[in-house]
Amino acid sequence: MAEIERADVKPPAPAVSAFDATLALGTNLGDRVGNIEEAIRRLTADGSVRLVKRSGLYRSAPWGVTDQDWFVNACISIDTDLSPRELLERCQAVENGMGRVRTRHWGPRIIDVDILTFGDLKISEPDLVVPHPLIAERAFVLVPLKDIAPDLTVNGASLGAMLAKLDASDIVPIEA
Ligand code: AMP
Repeated sequence: MAEIERADVKPPAPAVSAFDATLALGTNLGDRVGNIEEAIRRLTADGSVRLVKRSGLYRSAPWGVTDQDWFVNACISIDTDLSPRELLERCQAVENGMGRVRTRHWGPRIIDVDILTFGDLKISEPDLVVPHPLIAERAFVLVPLKDIAPDLTVNGASLGAMLAKLDASDIVPIEA
């Protein structure tokens, strides 16, 4: 991992990399499949974030706060001209623009967009931690992430190694 701690500068792309960053999308309110589509459309609308690959859509049981409706989750890989901080602002603008109201932590949401990885960067700032600290604990992130970036390692661990420690039985592909 590069020892770069600044979130306001886009790093040069690693020599061999098919994408700049990976994002996780999740939703458990309203037209969930439509919400994922709309979030991708908004994220990429101005051309500064470009979709490289998108995972399948997965249905997953709620996590953390379990008395709520099931989620639809997906991951995308992107190329971007934005710095990590600008990308975080883009993600939050999409969340807010789609009408996300923050009620309780881990509660129902129209859309949640998290930055999972950004090149080899390790960022540890109060409002931005990359790689996302909960990747290794969340099968609903690891399963779609493996679709689009099977060779990715996070903090030295392969996605498969992280998944092997989790129960992914309730992460169910949604037929297209
Ligand atoms: P959430 O409830 O998952 O949407 O969390 C949002 C909060 O997490 C925001 O205040 C962000 O600043 C913070 N945050 C920290 N690291 C990240 C990340 N890698 N991606 C998205 N949000 C992050």
